[in-house]
Amino acid sequence: MRTLTRVEGYLLVGAGLLGVLVGLAAGVGFRYSERVQHAMPPAPEPALDDGLVRTLAALRSAAVVLDESDEVVRASPPAYALGVVRDGRIPHAAIRDLVRDVRRDGVIRDEELELPRGPVGAARVMLQVRVAHVGPRHVLVLAEDRTEARRLEAIRRDFVVNVSHELKTPVGALALLAETVHAAADDPEAVRRFAGRMQQESARLSALVHEIIELSRLQVAGALTQPALVEIDAVLAEAVDRARTKASGKSIQLHPGGEAGLTVYGDHALLVTAVRNLLDNAVAYSPADTQVGAGVRRVGDMVEIAVVDQGIGIAPEDQERVFERFYRVDPARSRDTGGTGLGLSIVKHVAADHGGEVAVWSRPGKGSTFTLRIPAAHEPPTTQSPRPEEVDA
Ligand code: ADP
Repeated sequence: MRTLTRVEGYLLVGAGLLGVLVGLAAGVGFRYSERVQHAMPPAPEPALDDGLVRTLAALRSAAVVLDESDEVVRASPPAYALGVVRDGRIPHAAIRDLVRDVRRDGVIRDEELELPRGPVGAARVMLQVRVAHVGPRHVLVLAEDRTEARRLEAIRRDFVVNVSHELKTPVGALALLAETVHAAADDPEAVRRFAGRMQQESARLSALVHEIIELSRLQVAGALTQPALVEIDAVLAEAVDRARTKASGKSIQLHPGGEAGLTVYGDHALLVTAVRNLLDNAVAYSPADTQVGAGVRRVGDMVEIAVVDQGIGIAPEDQERVFERFYRVDPARSRDTGGTGLGLSIVKHVAADHGGEVAVWSRPGKGSTFTLRIPAAHEPPTTQSPRPEEVDA
C-alpha cells in the first residue's frame, strides 16, 4: 500500500472539512427555513366554493360573504346598490351585530331592520336580513329590500281606516234621518224634507262606495294589463256629456276643444273617469254662470288634456295635497257638493297607470287648471311574437 503524498493528505483533510461545513450549512439552512415557515402569514384563504360563487351571482337580492375579520370577500351588485356594502365593509352596526351573534353560536339570524339608506340624509330602507355560516370561516349576509312592500302596507292600512271613517258619516246620517222621518210621520212637509236629505246621503254613500271600489282596482299593480288604442276625442266627448247635467244645474258652460285625432294606449273607461272627475270638480268648485274649458293638445310625446275653470282656486300649500285620498281643502264644501275626497286621487292613479301624470296650476279667487298628461300613441300595436333571441334576454 502506497503512502499518501503530502499534497494528497492536504486534499483529504480539505475535503473532510468541506463535508463538515456543507453538513453544518444544510442543518442551519433547514432550521432557518423551518423558522421562516413558521413566521410566514397563514396560507391564503381557501377560495370560495364554486357552487356558492355561482349561486351568489344568480341571486337577485343583496348577498355578501364576509371573512373572519368582517372584510367583504364577495358581494352581489344589489348589495352595493342597497348600501349594504360600502368601502369593502358592511356600514350598518345592526347587521354587524347579527354577524357577530351568528359567529358566536352558529344559529341563523333572520330580522327586519330599518336602516339609513345612505351615509347622509334621512331616507330609510327596510331590509329583511338573513345571516348564516357558510363553511368554517365565512358568513353569508342576505338582504331583501322590503321598503316598498312596507310602504304599500302602510298606505293600505291608512286607506282602510279612512274608508271606515268616511263610510260612518253618511251611514250615521241616514240612520238619524230615518229616525226623524219616523218621528215626523204626521207632518208630510217634514217627511218630504227629510226624505230629500236621505236621498242626498244615500247618493253620497253610493258615490263613495263606487269610488272606493274604483280606487282599489287601480291600486292593484298592473291594472292596465291590456292597453288598447284609445281615441282622446271619444274620451273627452263622453266625459263632457256625463258632466253636463251638473254643469247646467249651475248654469256653467262646458267648452271642449283643441286638437282632434289624438290617441294614447290605455283604458277608455278609466280615462273617461279621470277627465270626468276633473270636470265635476271644475263645476263643483266654481260659482254659477262661469265657464269651464277642456282642451286637448299634443306636446312632444305627450297628449295633454287641460281642464280650466274660473272657480275658487286652491291655495299653494294645498295644491300638492289635493291629490291625497280624502284630502279636502274645505270638508264642509266638499260634502255639500257630494264630494268624496277621492276624485283627484283616482285621477292621479289613472295617470300613473298610463305612464303619465296630473299637475295643477291654481290661483285662489281666479281659478284652476288641472292637466292630465299621457304618453301619445306612436305606432300600431305589434301582434308579432318576439324573436327567439329577444326572449328572456
Ligand atoms: P272631492 O270629492 O272633495 O272634490 P277631490 O279628490 O276631487 O275630492 O278633490 C280634493 C279637494 O281638492 C277638494 O275637496 C277641493 O278642496 C279641491 N279641489 C279639487 N278640484 C278643485 C277645483 N277645480 N277648484 C278648487 N278646488 C278644487
